[in-house]
Amino acid sequence: MSKVIRTRFAPSPSGFLHVGGARTALFNYLYAKARGGQYVLRVEDTDQGRSTPESERIILDSLNWLGIIPDEGPDEGGDFGPYRQSERLDIYSKYTQTLIEKNLAYPCFCTEAELEQMHEAAKRLGVPNIYDGRYANLPKEEAQARIKKGEKYSIRLRVAGDEVVVQDLVQGKVKFDSRLIGDFIIVKSDGFPTYNYAVVVDDFEMKISHVIRGVGHLSNTPRQILIHNALGLPLPEYAHISEIVGTDKKKLSKRRGATSVLFFRDMGYLSEAFNNYMALLGWYPEDAAEFMPMTELKRKFDVARCSKSPSMFDFFLNENSTDAEDFKPEDMSEAELKKMVNKKTKLNWLNNKYIRSISMAELWPEASRFLSKDKGLAALIQKDPKRIEEIYDRVRMYLDTLDDAVPFFLELLKEKIQIESKEAEDLVGTEEAKNVVAAFAEMVRTQKPSTPEAFSEIMKQAGLKTGAKGKGLFMPIRIASTGSMHGLELPNLFAILGHERVLARLVQIS
Ligand code: GLU
Repeated sequence: MSKVIRTRFAPSPSGFLHVGGARTALFNYLYAKARGGQYVLRVEDTDQGRSTPESERIILDSLNWLGIIPDEGPDEGGDFGPYRQSERLDIYSKYTQTLIEKNLAYPCFCTEAELEQMHEAAKRLGVPNIYDGRYANLPKEEAQARIKKGEKYSIRLRVAGDEVVVQDLVQGKVKFDSRLIGDFIIVKSDGFPTYNYAVVVDDFEMKISHVIRGVGHLSNTPRQILIHNALGLPLPEYAHISEIVGTDKKKLSKRRGATSVLFFRDMGYLSEAFNNYMALLGWYPEDAAEFMPMTELKRKFDVARCSKSPSMFDFFLNENSTDAEDFKPEDMSEAELKKMVNKKTKLNWLNNKYIRSISMAELWPEASRFLSKDKGLAALIQKDPKRIEEIYDRVRMYLDTLDDAVPFFLELLKEKIQIESKEAEDLVGTEEAKNVVAAFAEMVRTQKPSTPEAFSEIMKQAGLKTGAKGKGLFMPIRIASTGSMHGLELPNLFAILGHERVLARLVQIS
């Protein structure tokens, strides 16, 4: 019988769910689903100083938005709970007892000051900071007496051997020198297990078959293997997935683009498009397809096809910032952030494809929520929802995000064209500009274009006829038809308005 596949996502609740974490969750979810297995969510809150219930809530909300719903987890329950590490302390302590009884672990009474001294000394000598084993051979009775007296202590694992080998499904075989690890702490002086220790106990207890996580955790894996070996537990399969970098090729950090996934929801990305985009960060299917809804991803995903090289998250144009380190999305206003968005990102391309292809019934609740951000549009939806929904259906092919719909609708529903500024008035008032607008209007009247391509062609013809080019060609047409010097792609706007309304607008101005 083949082994049941069980994967897990194990976030520490000390912040938002960023793109890197969300991708790890997605890969674990997809790998389990592609093989008829189970995906578990485990909250790793043993760092009491940094974990907060608010952060846990934000992470769970983010995962819910993405539709990465666990088979077992803190909200769902399951046979291997509790699914929060802070509620599993008695489980870890059972394992610790066994390790101490077998003399594979021991109490260490080093104070903070002593540890700091060791660290400083190693730094001075330029050697790795390896624990010197000063409590490794303390007689058991003496240790007991000191514990009884109330002295603070941690528990360290005895590390023997020269080498630990990690067999990784993505990174291949990676060797680590265990002499550089030394006896390390598995239970902290506050009684909480360290990250490495809790992970091993939980992965075993929860019957996890595959550990899929970011390559940043690869250096923790030898410690985890040493713990597995000491406890005599079988190893899971490991898959350490590539790093995500920004457009500046630097590691994606919180400061540079690794912002909360909820930011993408609030900007009008559909979760399906976001998942599709994340799936392509470091993985590609055999048939090289790019547009893959969740149902398809759940069939196709295989960690064996993940690439070792870093994948690029091209959403923010980090190079726009004079100093990339200054780029702090969390401190920027929505308007400022929008200016940094790379319009040509694959995420926008995918989002547009999902916006235009899902059913209106599915899209409308979200779509109308975004439109209603504008009070005028909210009132129109109240008054005549069917009409607005119908227009939306025609407009949606031009939207990269649901948020893009607001300016589109405001432009479309304008009753009267008013020229926005003196500058625009001057631009459209010249003889040349008037000729361009007249030529364009005449062709619209006679050719009755209906598609963006046909309108584009007519603009070109108007240019040929009048000798106007570039800005001299499209600016008069833009101002005469919208009153503004900036805005939507004209051919798209014209196709939605239809030739009669375009003409009516041009006549108003001329
Ligand atoms: N709790 C760890 C983190 O948030 C992940 C642990 C793991 O995947 O092994 O980075």
